[in-house]
Amino acid sequence: MFLDRDGIINRKLPEDRYVRKPSEFELLPDVEAALAIMRDHGFVLVVVTNQRGIARGIMTEDDLIQVHQFMNSLLIKCGVKFEGIYYCPHDKNDYCDCRKPEPGMILAAAKDLEIDLNSSYMVGDSASDVEAAKNAGVKSVHISSADGDIGAELVFPTLIDFARHLHDLERSFPQPCV
Ligand SMILES: [Mg+2]
Ligand SMILES: [Zn+2]
Repeated sequence: MFLDRDGIINRKLPEDRYVRKPSEFELLPDVEAALAIMRDHGFVLVVVTNQRGIARGIMTEDDLIQVHQFMNSLLIKCGVKFEGIYYCPHDKNDYCDCRKPEPGMILAAAKDLEIDLNSSYMVGDSASDVEAAKNAGVKSVHISSADGDIGAELVFPTLIDFARHLHDLERSFPQPCV
């Protein structure tokens, strides 16, 4: 399970503002519960996040690492844990292969953690997340409470709605006939 960070795990700050320190990091409601459901259904949880505030000199890589340590500390209290946190520190015009919509972070995580792309999802709130999912060959999930189709395979208002959908899917599998 590949998850975008800002707007999915934590509250997104206004455009052009970056979460630079733990005090600016606020988990969204029910995120721990949603991640726990995903984990219980066998998904490896991985964050893939664009952080061009680093390339722009607004924050350092060390700031980002501290924010991620804080995120982990909040989640570990609820028994959930990201197996990987992948970030792209580059700017748009660096033309790297990691900045979403490029699939680099998803592909690297899949390789490092031996994740099967065919049974994976990329969950995000932006068109670049949906495109990255397609470029990596995983199912795309758009979390949005607004109207507006950006071409994702699945759309849910919140992360926990998607987690419940996964739960229902598994329960609805036909039982084998004996
Ligand atoms: Mg986002
Ligand atoms: Zn990059």
